[in-house]
Amino acid sequence: MSFVFVVDQHRKPLDPVHPGRARYLLTSGHAAVLRRYPFTLILKEAKPDAEPAPLRVKIDPGSKTTGLAVVNDTTGAVLWAGELSHRGDMIKEGLRKRAGVRRSRRQRHTRYRQPRFANRTRPKGWLAPSLKSRVDNVLSWVARIRRWCPIGAISMELARFDPQALANPEIAGAEYQRGTLFGYELREYLLEKWGRQCAYCHQRNVPLQMEHIVPKARGGTNRVTNLTVACGPCNTKKGTRTAEEFGFPQIQAQAQKPLTDAAAVNSTRWALYEQLKATRLSVETGTGGRTKFNRSIREIPKTHWLDAANVGASTPGTVHWQGVHPLLIVAKGRQDRQMCHVNTIGFPVSKAKGGSRVQGFTTGDMVRAIVPATSKKVGNLCWTSRDQV
Ligand SMILES: [Zn+2]
Repeated sequence: MSFVFVVDQHRKPLDPVHPGRARYLLTSGHAAVLRRYPFTLILKEAKPDAEPAPLRVKIDPGSKTTGLAVVNDTTGAVLWAGELSHRGDMIKEGLRKRAGVRRSRRQRHTRYRQPRFANRTRPKGWLAPSLKSRVDNVLSWVARIRRWCPIGAISMELARFDPQALANPEIAGAEYQRGTLFGYELREYLLEKWGRQCAYCHQRNVPLQMEHIVPKARGGTNRVTNLTVACGPCNTKKGTRTAEEFGFPQIQAQAQKPLTDAAAVNSTRWALYEQLKATRLSVETGTGGRTKFNRSIREIPKTHWLDAANVGASTPGTVHWQGVHPLLIVAKGRQDRQMCHVNTIGFPVSKAKGGSRVQGFTTGDMVRAIVPATSKKVGNLCWTSRDQV
């Protein structure tokens, strides 16, 4: 059950409440709606001073969608969840269009901005605008959740696998077994190293198996340098042949090259981690291997928000997730800087840019249309809530 955020008269976050309790608070007039998204109530009367139990916000950052979950570590309940869709592709496309407009103006000898030379250095920690938007989206939602909900700690998935766990290349027989935490870390490591595709037929999006380059029957070891990933058919076809005998001598050489630690963490996640630390809450980091391990042993299906709920070593023994419906969030951006829209060739097709408000409304406003049943072309819009956060 997704819980409802509640704040007191001074907008201090209180314990989130069950939806039934929230309904009672509203119908009895003890509370009013403060925010629609995320649904938040404000109490009308003073509340006795009981310190709310601090909760944990958990994040699984993704390139297209980021999972968010608010979890009570003591009870294991997922109190709130969200799935945040990013707009990296739209930003990239917007910049491409802007470059096209400038180029066409230069060609047409209209007034234009001079192209800049590549003589500028980028500040340390610079991220491409499409990547920065992902970091900013997550940060603004963490800030929003912290405003309406008592958060005491943050967990985020930082690395795909744990380089420390794989530091010892010799894998003991028991540890190598699938289903252990080490097994999951190893699998994530191999997927990253071999580009998430079958090493032999390069097929993607098929179930991949851990595969011995020199088969164990031929004296191959369980060392990381003797392992690769292969699809089922290739694995069967290869049988007890070595990769060289199978016609892939280069695989043996590639397996000897170690994957650097840096490959475990991408720049976007690292930037997010650095910024989350600035909130001065304790930030726990987990690996993709551990998230999968946590989810599998608890037999929880895979979704972005459930992945988020399973991030990190702090995940409670039982996670109560049934009945929770994630809030589906779509990043909309703010205004754009393009002065007028252009067609595919770059010619202006709209009027010059106007203000960001149209008849009092702006992007992201929640509106209700009041349209009389007798006519379709008349009516009014009015606000239902103004989330100016
Ligand atoms: Zn294959």
